[in-house]
Amino acid sequence: MNWLTISIYLSKGLIYLVFFLIGITVFSFANVVIYRLPEKKGFTKGSSMCRSCGHKLAVKDLIPIFSWIRLKGKCRYCGEKISVRYPLVELFGGICAVGLTAYYGITLKALTIFLLFTVFTIITLIDYDTMEIPPVLNVAVLILGIISIWTVGGVSILDRIIGMFCISLPLFLIVLIIPEGFGGGDIKLMFAAGFFLGWKMTVMGFFIGLVAGGIYGVILMARRKKGKKDHFAFGPFLCAGMAISIFVGTQLLDKYIDFIKAAFYQ
Ligand SMILES: [Zn+2]
Repeated sequence: MNWLTISIYLSKGLIYLVFFLIGITVFSFANVVIYRLPEKKGFTKGSSMCRSCGHKLAVKDLIPIFSWIRLKGKCRYCGEKISVRYPLVELFGGICAVGLTAYYGITLKALTIFLLFTVFTIITLIDYDTMEIPPVLNVAVLILGIISIWTVGGVSILDRIIGMFCISLPLFLIVLIIPEGFGGGDIKLMFAAGFFLGWKMTVMGFFIGLVAGGIYGVILMARRKKGKKDHFAFGPFLCAGMAISIFVGTQLLDKYIDFIKAAFYQ
């Protein structure tokens, strides 16, 4: 290896390191939103404090991932355990930023999808914690969907409009009959995300989420006592399904349609 190749590798590594640091910082802010939005506290003003002892946190306590490792997962002031979820969420943000940059390059497309993943992560954890999706997050998904017309592209406006209704409308009708089936937040999420993804990715994303959620539901029922009704948040599965669908949804659906056609016309 000569010096030129080494320096190219080094600068590539450096770029990915920068994106990793941006990713963990953005998701560190997402952590704040996840905890403060359901409590209806403002999350831009006021300093961060320990959720156990209320001690104001210094800058050295707030460095994503590294502070948690340095403090061995305990509050510096009261010694109370700090959930491992904080650094894991931040790590996930770093991986998303690096992965999307590697996949799409340093583009507005990568940035838009990264922001969608950020909102999906916030929705996932708030829904998991509270069984509710704050409406403002679905509005954020819809705004990103409008931005994606220019930054992501590849989906026609008609496909996007069909995407808004193809899952949300049937879900809405199901809820009219079986009120406990899905939450209103799930329906609005599918409506908003449908515009971002278009109908193909929306259908596949919902299908992936439904299968994953169904498997989880069966495991949950098997573990718990019979006769007891089990409720769990469906938002996390919808978000995960749609995130996967961005990469493989259209291809999977086209393959499925080809398969059906071949079965019909042979
Ligand atoms: Zn503390």
